[in-house]
Amino acid sequence: MLPSCPPTSLTALVLTPSPTPTKPPAEHHGGGGGLWLLLMLAAFIWAVAHVISVQLHPLRTCRACNGTGLHRGQLFTGTMRVCRRCGGTRRQLRPGARATTRHRHH
Ligand SMILES: [Zn+2]
Repeated sequence: MLPSCPPTSLTALVLTPSPTPTKPPAEHHGGGGGLWLLLMLAAFIWAVAHVISVQLHPLRTCRACNGTGLHRGQLFTGTMRVCRRCGGTRRQLRPGARATTRHRHH
């Protein structure tokens, strides 16, 4: 007499559906409004700070010549010319700034 293992338990073990291991966490809907408000607020603060900064410092270092006022030659490093973007003034007007360097007549 051989102990007959009942095959029903084996098939039941194989056929058991594996539970879904990873379930994406349900995102909280309705919280996006606060995030957008925060972004808008940050953008507004940044814009105000930028406007104030432009009024305080309307000029910036010329990026074309890196503040040297001269543009050096690429091939012959000893050669140079006046920077065309800033005209040799080594500075350029920031976007949004007005040219306030005009002579006022009193
Ligand atoms: Zn320049």
